[in-house]
Formats: sequence, structure tokens, C-alpha cells
Amino acid sequence: MEKTGLSIKILGDPVLRKKSRQVRRVSDEHRRTLSTMSRFMHDSNGIGLAAPQIGLNDAMIVVDIGTGLYKLINPRIVEREGEQVLEEGCLSVPGVYIKIKRSRRVVLEALDEEAKPLRIEAQDLLACVFQHEIDHLNGKLIFDYASVIKKLQIKRKMRALAKKKASDEGLPEPKRERREL
Ligand code: ZN
Repeated sequence: MEKTGLSIKILGDPVLRKKSRQVRRVSDEHRRTLSTMSRFMHDSNGIGLAAPQIGLNDAMIVVDIGTGLYKLINPRIVEREGEQVLEEGCLSVPGVYIKIKRSRRVVLEALDEEAKPLRIEAQDLLACVFQHEIDHLNGKLIFDYASVIKKLQIKRKMRALAKKKASDEGLPEPKRERREL
């Protein structure tokens, strides 16, 4: 995978809507991708990132809510319990925050970057972030949880953003105030 030319994919890019492939054999390339994803996440002040967000439909996510970095391959939820509603943002839907109802506690199975099977129990914010990132692997975005009216507002916002981006070319991006996933 090339280091150059990578950028965070934004709502409207078809790569965000494809279902990701399971990784069959974990290689150095996957480990490099996971490192790149971690760097992107930290550089963007995000707390989670899924491979489709950098244009790759491989089932890989990184998560770091400040309690340690997870690099996970083929993650899936095997148990869920309870409910919580948190306001979520997404690096691929910039500037948009949506309250989403999710499970309060989840158990995941995944592989680590050495292809070792993991079982992870998570609750509250960490459980929310895992569910958000696994949604990305299924082509699902926070946009999909929005009401019809909010969807129209988001589409308008994304169009304005695309226009602004075109006219601002070359200017530094404004600092984000909230954390996105
Ligand atoms: Zn996201």
C-alpha cells in the first residue's frame, strides 16, 4: 500500500458503502495498513478509524479512546447487552453529530495484528466506538441513523463543504473541536 495519496474518504465516496472483505491471511501489508490507520486516527484527533475510511475494503479497524490502542482484524460482535445513546461524530461525515442508540456492552471476537484470536469485552464509550467502526465495515455510516430532515441538512452541509474545499485549496484545515470516529 502506498503511503502517499491517502486521505480520509468523505460521505458520497462509494468505498464507504461497500462491505469489507474478511482478511484471510494476515501479512506485513496488513500490519503496515493498521499502522497507517493509527497514524491517521491520531493525526485527525479521532478515537476510531475503519479501513474503508482510507479507501480500503479490508475488515480492519483501529480504536483508541485514550485507554490503549486496539488494532483489530475481522472484528465481529458476538454478544451485546443493554442500551445507550451517545452523540457520535465521524471523520467521514465531518462536522455532523448524531445521537445514536447502541448496545451498552458488547463482546467482540477479532484477530490482532499477529493473527492471534482475541476476545474483548467493552462497555460505554468503548462499546459505542467498536459498534461504530464495525458499521463502517458493513458500509454503514452515522448518516443512516439520522432522521429524514437531518439527512437533508447533512447533504446540504456536505455540498457546501465540497464547494468550500474547492475554493480553499491550499489553506490549512480549521482545527476540529470535537472528537470524531
Ligand atoms: Zn466513522
